Order: sequence, then C-alpha cells, then structure tokens
Amino acid sequence: MITELPHATGVAQVPLAPGVYAYLGEHGMPNAVTVEGRDGVVVIDSLFTPRHAAHMIEALRATTDKPVVALVNTHFHGDHVFGNSAVPTDRIIAHRSAHERLLTGGDAYRELLCGVRPDLAPEIGDLEFVLPTELIDDRLTLDLGDVRLDIRHSGRHAHTTGDLVVELPSHGIFVASDLVFNGILPVARDGDLDGWIAVLAEQRDGFTGDVVVPGHGVVGGRELFDRQIDVLRGVIEKVTAVLSEGGSRDEARAAALTAAGALLHADERIDAYVNLIWTKETNL
Ligand SMILES: [Zn+2]
Repeated sequence: MITELPHATGVAQVPLAPGVYAYLGEHGMPNAVTVEGRDGVVVIDSLFTPRHAAHMIEALRATTDKPVVALVNTHFHGDHVFGNSAVPTDRIIAHRSAHERLLTGGDAYRELLCGVRPDLAPEIGDLEFVLPTELIDDRLTLDLGDVRLDIRHSGRHAHTTGDLVVELPSHGIFVASDLVFNGILPVARDGDLDGWIAVLAEQRDGFTGDVVVPGHGVVGGRELFDRQIDVLRGVIEKVTAVLSEGGSRDEARAAALTAAGALLHADERIDAYVNLIWTKETNL
C-alpha cells in the first residue's frame, strides 16, 4: 500500500519488505529509506528539509515505535541531508569525504539549492547544518538483530567522492542513492563519469537481489544499473563525437540531449556533463 505522507509533503511511503519503507519524492525530489529490525530503526537519508524529514518520521511512527538508532547520509548533497536535524538520533554515519564537503562546501551548495528551489529557500536558507558524527572510509555493518545493513563506499569518485550505498542482503534490497536516478537525468556537477560507470557495473555484478532504490525516481529492479550506465555512456559518446569532429560546445550540448533529452531535468542538467567531458578530453 502506498501512503501519502501527512501535510501534503509531496513524498509517498512505499513498503519494500516487512519493516522496510521507501519514501519517494514526487517530481524528481529525493528519496529516503527506513529499515526496522529487532533492535531499532535505521534511516537512510533525511530528505530536503527538516519539515520533509519530520513528516517522514511521523509516517514511520505509524508503523513502529522502535527508536531510530542511526541515520546514514549517503553523500553531501543537501537534498539528502538537510533534514538531519529532524531525525531523532545522534548517530549520523557518512563517508569522510562527504563530511569534508559539507564543512567546506555546504554553504555554497545550499545557496545553489535555494536558486534551484526558491520555494524551499525560506526553510533551508539559514539552516543550521547537523553534521555526521561517525565517519567511515570503506564499509560498516549495522546489525539490528534480525536485519543486517551493509554500508559501503562506492570505492571511487562517482556521483561525488563520498557516495555510500546500503545493501540489505536478507531482503535483496540495494539502496543506490544518487548513483542511480530513475527516469531523471542525474546531477553530475560533482561527479566523475567514468568512475561512476565503473562503480555501477561493479554494483550490478555484485548484487544478487531484485530491488534497487534510486536516489530520485521510483523503485525498480536490477535493470536500473544498466539503464543508468546507458545514459552516462550515451552522453559521453555524443559529446566526444562532436569534439572529435571539431564541433562547438553548443553542438555538443544538442547532441548530448539526443541521448538524454527524454529524462526529467535533462535541459537544466546537461551542461554539467558537457563541461566534465569537454574538460577531460581537451584539458581546457
Ligand atoms: Zn546527489
């Protein structure tokens, strides 16, 4: 059963397995996941604002009264961590690099998000960051008694330098966060496209379950890995083809959109791809 979160939050609570829920944002907004085990609840990402996170916790409370024992921040992007203050736990786990980026670039990212979502600017404009309290370099296992969460760094620079994924082996569920977008062009500004493709292929090959939760868009199956790889590869191929023919950036942009234009937010996000590929190929 899909339940709309209270107060018209624009997020739907979707059950994935007993005690496991995805919270899916509408119109390309970020997703989160809650996992209940015998010993408590782990929350994976805190949505865009403390208000969104509070509504998620209210919906969670309708399913369990167990304490939240940990919050995982999958990466530093504000739309996944600005709700931290409304998740009732002091144990906030992130990759060391994500923590660093929040400290050094959090304000700049917040300003950028205020521009992208002016309607949310009053809520995040003077937000006090609640920073991660437990930093990991590689991997961490959380054992809730009857459910195990394997938290892993992706191993490379991909969507960002500090992407964490969470696998629930007993449920066959993979929380990919922003390494995978479903039906939406990912934000690539902080990414490395080749590293990203390599990470996606490794994750696809290492995961034996059936459920993949993207960072944005609806839940899907294993095919989401290959679909994301195809999008990234398609854009790279189009842009490098224009470059090798001596074309302009505008031509590269238009070509890139022929590969990705059907995806939500493609038009406003494609320039970051062109810039990344152009810089890498020409060192300009
Ligand atoms: Zn992101």
